[in-house]
Amino acid sequence: MKLDFDVVIVGAGFAGMTAAIYLKRANVNVVMIENNAPGGQANKTNIIENYPGFESIDGPTLAYNLFMQTQKLKVPYKYGNVIDIEDKNDYKIIKTDKEEIKCKCVIIATGRKSKELGLENETSLTGRGVSWCAICDGPLYKNKTVAVVGGGNSSLEESIYLSEMCSKVILIHRRDEFRAESILVDKVLQNPKIEIKHNNVITALNEFEDKLDSVDIKNTIDGSKEDVKVSALFIFIGNYPVVDMLKNTKVKTMDGYILIDRNMRTNVKGIYACGDVISKEVYQMSTAAGEGTIAALSAIKDLK
Ligand SMILES: Cc1cc2nc3c(=O)[nH]c(=O)nc-3n(C[C@H](O)[C@H](O)[C@H](O)COP(=O)(O)OP(=O)(O)OC[C@H]3O[C@@H](n4cnc5c(N)ncnc54)[C@H](O)[C@@H]3O)c2cc1C
Repeated sequence: MKLDFDVVIVGAGFAGMTAAIYLKRANVNVVMIENNAPGGQANKTNIIENYPGFESIDGPTLAYNLFMQTQKLKVPYKYGNVIDIEDKNDYKIIKTDKEEIKCKCVIIATGRKSKELGLENETSLTGRGVSWCAICDGPLYKNKTVAVVGGGNSSLEESIYLSEMCSKVILIHRRDEFRAESILVDKVLQNPKIEIKHNNVITALNEFEDKLDSVDIKNTIDGSKEDVKVSALFIFIGNYPVVDMLKNTKVKTMDGYILIDRNMRTNVKGIYACGDVISKEVYQMSTAAGEGTIAALSAIKDLK
């Protein structure tokens, strides 16, 4: 059986690209397959202030630097959407929308996607006021009032970023306390351009002339309702793991997240996982990079 590669890495985010660096430096015949821009979620992040070695850097620059590091090492990179993985025990067949690739091992580094609110016209208003990426769409709403929904790190980070260009940011959170880091909570509380609406949920998105015009919110304590006029709504209410390509394998998951041992091996021989797609406590770039390292070193050991 002639294999195309020893290792295929699915997803070129921080986990996947870090794994690629370690594999290539160990002379392993590796390829990265990515269905979007290399860098993954980092491309949607404005300022990163907690990645070691960088006091403050924007996500796309950090992602570009990492991608260039893989390209200087000449890691083969394919643009493609991995739709299925066939486990043949001793080898795997990776099926993309364009081709089939045979390899010895596969590292799943497909990360997470943002959750939707589930409101009626949310999809149709996407790109017309509804967004999941402040760095991509924020500049379209310069000097306008926008809303952000969510209560974790991402929603607070992105509210701060949006406050630099928008006239006002209304931060809507369903609970009475944020679950974000206290340094971010303090920054938000001290920001005069951010208005916080605690204990509120969004119940409807109202459009006018094909664009988002306002959001209906409902107070979860007293039931009072309000129509809040905004030009855009940025949604940061959580994520879900991208694992659909594993549907025909026996890889175990919990709540959709891949279960791994401490060396990033799944329960299936030759399939490893790392980064935001795995079941764990901390979902950060630094942890994704660390897990990419471990997955690569495990694959190198097993290949030997
Ligand atoms: C708005 C926001 C702000 C954040 N701020 C910070 C921060 O300040 N500090 C921090 O440390 N972390 C932050 N994070 C979290 C951080 O971005 C993630 O933890 C990290 O990027 C995860 O990396 P990953 O490689 O595991 O996954 P991802 O970045 O999700 O990369 C996965 C890649 O796989 C690709 N992919 C998925 N499915 C397929 C497929 N079927 N075929 C081919 N390719 C596929 C995707 O396109 C993507 O490029 C933030 C996240 C967001 C959304």
